[in-house]
Formats: sequence, structure tokens, C-alpha cells
Amino acid sequence: MKLWKKIWTIINQESSFDNESKRTAVVLRCVYLVMIVYHFIFFCLMGFRGLLREGGFHVSWLAVISVIATLILFQLSFRQKISTNLKLFIAAAILWLGGFVFLFGWSCGAQQIMFVMVVLVYFSFYDAIAQKAVFTVVLFLIRFAMFSYTQNFEPYTVLPDTLELVLQVWSSLSFFTLMGIICGFYSSNIETADKQLVLYNRRLKEEARTDPLTGLWNRRAMRDFLSLNMQNYPQMPFSIAMGDIDFFKRVNDTYGHDCGDAVLKWLSSHLTQMIEGKGQICRYGGEEFLLYFPDMNGDEADVTLNELLLLLARTPFEWNDNQLQISMTFGVEEYDFHSNLEEMIKKADEKLYAGKGQGRNQVVF
Ligand code: GH3
Ligand code: MG
Ligand code: MG
Repeated sequence: MKLWKKIWTIINQESSFDNESKRTAVVLRCVYLVMIVYHFIFFCLMGFRGLLREGGFHVSWLAVISVIATLILFQLSFRQKISTNLKLFIAAAILWLGGFVFLFGWSCGAQQIMFVMVVLVYFSFYDAIAQKAVFTVVLFLIRFAMFSYTQNFEPYTVLPDTLELVLQVWSSLSFFTLMGIICGFYSSNIETADKQLVLYNRRLKEEARTDPLTGLWNRRAMRDFLSLNMQNYPQMPFSIAMGDIDFFKRVNDTYGHDCGDAVLKWLSSHLTQMIEGKGQICRYGGEEFLLYFPDMNGDEADVTLNELLLLLARTPFEWNDNQLQISMTFGVEEYDFHSNLEEMIKKADEKLYAGKGQGRNQVVF
């Protein structure tokens, strides 16, 4: 367990260059480790001494050189640009494959490493898709050339069938593992990015609908909500009320803007409590609130709002040992099943201003 942790700490290092994907660096290092194991097992399977005796000197040295080259690439991945490192790996892998196919032919399955290369290039480079397509075609041509060669020439070393089969299985296992590792890394990242994007979008949407000071819906959210409701339930009765704080400018002028803000928050919580379970509320503008009462006629909304005014009259707002008497004026408009939202808001506004003219602290219906 500890060894794995150590290996992971080594692998999981940033590239030493800016603007380089750490993920690609980590994936590449994993690829190198798997490749080292691959070459090592290959070396063991061949039986170093046995093949030396049969004149297959080159055979096992291919594995030894490959391990050394892979170790160098691994080491370089900490110092070199990852994109350069990846290009070097691809060049080295093609060379290795050429040597392998020349030595053992086609039946050991080493050519499957080309799939690993394609997946790596497609996921790791941010180049245009056309360049990646060209790379795929070139790789296919190389593969085809190698295959044609093996159709015409005997391999340098003809391996026994059983060994060929074992190598075929070992190659498949290794390269499928690599594909799994690469796809796993990149897809998990896509999933995370996807999840973050969804959350971010949700937050953006929520922020676009919320008034930052009071936490209430803003004008846009309420308008969208009401328009949709009127469209979906055109026969449903409801009332709206436009409310405005009385002499709010005085609060600001006397006690400061902070106090004004605190009043807005305090009042918002009272309004929210009052409307809870009955309807919706939004901060329509500076110190104006729009309220929605579904299934209520104007008289019922009038009663509810008068109760609120009574509550406000009984509950002064406290600010630095001062007790502020806060009141509001409301204009109520009932849905007549004909008017549109604009007309209703305009009428509620007119009633509100009539209420201001008649001495404030009242509900006009
Ligand atoms: P009336 O009874 O006629 O409504 O008088 P009023 O003083 O409430 O009305 P007026 O329109 O003259 O002033 C509204 C004030 O509300 C002016 C503006 O500075 C203040 N205001 C608007 N938004 C905010 C806010 O977010 N915070 C604070 N502190 N004040 C605000
Ligand atoms: Mg006001
Ligand atoms: Mg106002």
C-alpha cells in the first residue's frame, strides 16, 4: 500500500511548464510504467539465456533497450514539455513496433499499441481535429506497411506457437489496460468538468433571479413566473400588490445607507413570513416589492396586507438604540381574466401612488 502511495506521489506531479496539462503528464507516466512491466514480462517470457543460445541475441535486447528508453522518457516527463515528451513516446513506440514486427512478425499482437497512440493523441493534444485525422491516417499506413512486410517475409525469429499465443494474450492485456487507464483518466475529468458546469450554470441562473441584498426574487424572476402562470392557468384567479416603503429616503438620510439596507432586509423577512404558503414576493426595485397572491381576490389580499401593516406598526425596527417606525403603502390589483401583466402592474402602481397621496401607511384596492 505504501509503495503504491509512493509511486502515485511521483507520478502525480505537475509538468514543469506553464499551461501544460497535469493530467496528460500523469497519464503518460502511467503509460510508461505499464510499458516497463510489459517489456519486462516480455523479456522473462523469452527467456534471456535460452534465446541467446539459439542465436536470438537481438530478441531480448529489444526488451532491455525498450525498458531503458521508457525509463528515460519517464524521467524526461518531469523536465520536458509534456507535448514534446508525448511526441517522443510516439516516435519511440513506432520504432519499437517496427523492430518487434521485424523480429517476431504479426502474431504477437504488439501492433495493438497503435490504438493506445491514437487515443493518447486524440485526448492529449488540443490541435485541430484535421491534424489528428492526418496522424491516424499516417499510423494506419505504417500499420499497413508493416502488415504487408510480414505477409512477404518470414520473421527474423520464428517463435513457437504457444509462445506466440502467450505474447498475443499478454499484449492484448497490456494495451487494453492502457486504453482503460487513458480513457478512465480523461472521462473522469470530463465528468467532473460536466458536473462543475451544471452546478455553475445552476448558480448563475439562481444569481440572475435573486436580489443579492435581500435574497428575494428579483423583478425578472417574478415577471417570468407570473407570465408563465398566466399563460398556463389563464382561468386561475389571483391578485397582485405593489408595495413601497414610506419615507425611506429619510431613513437613509438620517441613519445612513447601512441602516437603510438593514431595514430592507428586515422588512423582506417580515414580508416573506407573511406571504409564506400564500404566494410569492420579489424586490421589484429599490424599496418597492411586488407580491403575488394566488387564489385570492383583491379584498382578501387587502386584509392580509392590512394585517402586515398592523404588525409593522407594533414592531419597530431597532438600529443603534433607536426605534424606527417603518410603514409601507400598497396598491392591490385583482386579475380580471382579461388584462395582461403589464396593465395589472401599472394599475397596482397607480393605486400605490394614490395611497401615497392619501397619507401613506395604507392599502389601496
Ligand atoms: P415615499 O414615501 O414617497 O416612497 O418616499 P421615499 O423617501 O421612500 O421615496 P423616494 O423615492 O424619494 O426615495 C427612495 C429611496 O430609497 C431613495 C434611495 O436612495 C433609497 N434606496 C433605493 N434602493 C436602496 C438600497 O438598496 N439601499 C438603501 N439603503 N437605500 C435604497
Ligand atoms: Mg418609498
Ligand atoms: Mg419608491
